[in-house]
Amino acid sequence: MYDFDYYKPASVAEAARLLAAGDSKLLAGGMSLIPSLKMRLNRYSALVDLGAVLDIKGIRRDGNFLVIGAMTPHAVVAASAEVRKILPAIASLAEGIGDPLVRNRGTMGGSMANADPAADYPSAILGLGATVVTHLRQIAGDDFFKGVFETALQAGEIIKEVHFPIPQKAAYTKYRQPASRFALVGVFVSKSADGVRVAVTGAAPSVFRFTAAEAALAKRFDPAALDGITIKPDDLNSDIHASAEYRAHCVVEITRRAVLAAQ
Ligand SMILES: Cc1cc2nc3c(=O)[nH]c(=O)nc-3n(C[C@H](O)[C@H](O)[C@H](O)COP(=O)(O)OP(=O)(O)OC[C@H]3O[C@@H](n4cnc5c(N)ncnc54)[C@H](O)[C@@H]3O)c2cc1C
Repeated sequence: MYDFDYYKPASVAEAARLLAAGDSKLLAGGMSLIPSLKMRLNRYSALVDLGAVLDIKGIRRDGNFLVIGAMTPHAVVAASAEVRKILPAIASLAEGIGDPLVRNRGTMGGSMANADPAADYPSAILGLGATVVTHLRQIAGDDFFKGVFETALQAGEIIKEVHFPIPQKAAYTKYRQPASRFALVGVFVSKSADGVRVAVTGAAPSVFRFTAAEAALAKRFDPAALDGITIKPDDLNSDIHASAEYRAHCVVEITRRAVLAAQ
């Protein structure tokens, strides 16, 4: 690990000011950032720890939205009575992330900013049509994830919270890579007055919407509506864990299971 300065501001404004100076980087749970520093894959002049910025940590309901602060750890989301009551699919998604250490340290904002192609939260953001609120602007969830470890965030932009619309029905189903527990394929399905959304993570370089399934499920929200629906493997990931053809098969089958779970 290279040397760096360390700051622990108490507000988003102070964090933004510290980030603007030099080659600084935000630190949340450290679950992805710290290993990359330890392996000397990255080098920063300073880390700006968001751990004391308390107003971006927590969960609340705001009208028909569930609002989760960026610094809320996965374990807090998983255990929240409010989340379990109004959007249980998010609680179960958070409960399935990594292991207890990762869930206690890792945060929603860190996971989103990191934009790992196999991370779970991105599927909920696309699968519900959520809105990402930063200290500068609001970003539609559909426009947030841009590619492998790439988002719409500008340098120094800080995620404050995410507004998830509360759907009529929703579920997240993940087929895990057994060693890492990341999604080989994960599917978030929701049904609301605006229609059906199906978002897939783990299968491609970035989370994406499975529009053929959305169209079929909009007519009939039932696993049988997916009979005959396929997805081309051309743009899907192929690696030591699974071929693109196998992932294509899983995308349809995991979608079927997610729809069943959402009934
Ligand atoms: C062993 C292991 C297993 C895991 N399994 C899973 C899994 O099954 N599913 C899954 O989804 N994830 C998994 N993860 C990832 C985990 O969910 C972490 O949440 C994720 O690594 C990053 O969150 P963090 O809070 O630790 O962020 P950090 O590592 O602190 O930061 C990550 C990046 O986000 C930036 N950042 C942090 N907060 C903000 C903010 N508020 N605004 C803007 N940028 C910000 C940082 O600058 C950095 O670039 C796993 C991680 C490990 C180590």
